[in-house]
Amino acid sequence: MIRPVDLVADIGEILVPEAHIQAKVAELGARISADYTDRQLTLVSVLKGSLPFMADLMRAITIPVRIDLMEVSSYGGTATESSGLVRILKDLSASIEREDVLIVEDIVDTGLTLNYLIRYLRGKNPATLRICTLLDKPARRLVDIPIDYVGFTIPDQFVVGYGLDYGEVYRNLRFVGVLKPEVYSEPA
Ligand code: 5GP
Repeated sequence: MIRPVDLVADIGEILVPEAHIQAKVAELGARISADYTDRQLTLVSVLKGSLPFMADLMRAITIPVRIDLMEVSSYGGTATESSGLVRILKDLSASIEREDVLIVEDIVDTGLTLNYLIRYLRGKNPATLRICTLLDKPARRLVDIPIDYVGFTIPDQFVVGYGLDYGEVYRNLRFVGVLKPEVYSEPA
């Protein structure tokens, strides 16, 4: 992909401004801190998209937490469509047996990736397994997954920013937005 000179200029619409993200992260952090008081909470973030959310959320949580990172990639899809076929690129680095585990996701779209991840992590016998996602796109859900903490429910649009990419670019935008249609006409 040819690197755009001005990332912001490629955005057609800002869907979730930076201030809304920060307020929501603070709210989620407070809820999670209250819900898990006196428990053994491990946050499992799913790279790369949830990196900024994880970094902000963990600092909004006021109880002791452990963190771990997984990296998964879906394959067989396109730049904007997930296939549901998931490959683990990086596994957990410590046991989660008998831990309270909270998966920290950037976005739940079809739910196929999360569905795979939940089944995989359940096999490691955590005490509890819950889900926190910054963005939820329920219109395209193929698997019914109960999500415990949702930041924003968004319409069926492909979004970038705050960790989310198009062709590995735009992750460092501080807001969540929709690309201008002409950006997609260039090969990703
Ligand atoms: P799912 O398996 O739920 O369909 O999608 C999971 C993954 O697809 C997300 O973790 C994310 O990497 C990618 N994805 C889904 N929707 C979007 C979107 O609107 N924008 C971006 N950049 N990635 C998305």
